[in-house]
Amino acid sequence: MSIAIDGYQVDIIVSGFPGKSVCHGGLGWSTIVLLRGHGRIALVDVGTFGMRNLLQKGLADHGLNNTDVTEVLLTHGHHDHCINWVMFRDARIVLGQSELEWAVEQPWGETPVAELYVERLNDWPTLHRAHDGEEILPGITCHLAAGHTPGHLIYVLRGESRDVIFTGDAAKNRAELISRDTDMTYDASISRATINMIWEHWRRHPASIVVPGHDLPMVLEDGRPEYIGKREAAITAWYGDDMETTTRIELTVA
Ligand SMILES: [Zn+2]
Repeated sequence: MSIAIDGYQVDIIVSGFPGKSVCHGGLGWSTIVLLRGHGRIALVDVGTFGMRNLLQKGLADHGLNNTDVTEVLLTHGHHDHCINWVMFRDARIVLGQSELEWAVEQPWGETPVAELYVERLNDWPTLHRAHDGEEILPGITCHLAAGHTPGHLIYVLRGESRDVIFTGDAAKNRAELISRDTDMTYDASISRATINMIWEHWRRHPASIVVPGHDLPMVLEDGRPEYIGKREAAITAWYGDDMETTTRIELTVA
């Protein structure tokens, strides 16, 4: 998805995937978005280790280097969304104040929190501790969206004719948005209230777009979320006797 909204160009660099592995734990295939406008170059979430080359290539495709990024807007402290802030360490790194306070208190080795990456971020000079309702960039506000984690933020780009709502893992995918039930929540009722809040933002304009943490972007058609773009997801595996023979396994459904 590449879309122009009120002085911003919004490009999805990595589209998140709404699934879990069956035998190997969490996939962590999360969404990364590039926002350019008002003289700023921002990323909404920055993915995990396996996405570093992808992220660099995604920036290069737009003629950008890591050092061009001026802002990193993090939704929460889980490893699959935040660890690559270290690729952009001169940028302003935005994370919710309450999320950071919570994340650095989590016991090591027991949760998806990137323990050492948030600990280092906690005293990083370019860290910005964000608060509920704050305007982070011109026309872009952050909102507390608890449930998945206690200090999770969503970011809302307010446009004249449409908004874009970056939900991170407050609403990971289409199924969560429609059912209002969630996987990986510390309190299902808090997550449901957060998803209701996301819907209030979404319904402000008929053409508004939701970009979830682990799914394709969506727009409402007759009140129902419909995907924008086409899902691409596959794995290649070495099941043969040499390095040239690979098997491609598609993870999309017809
Ligand atoms: Zn998460």
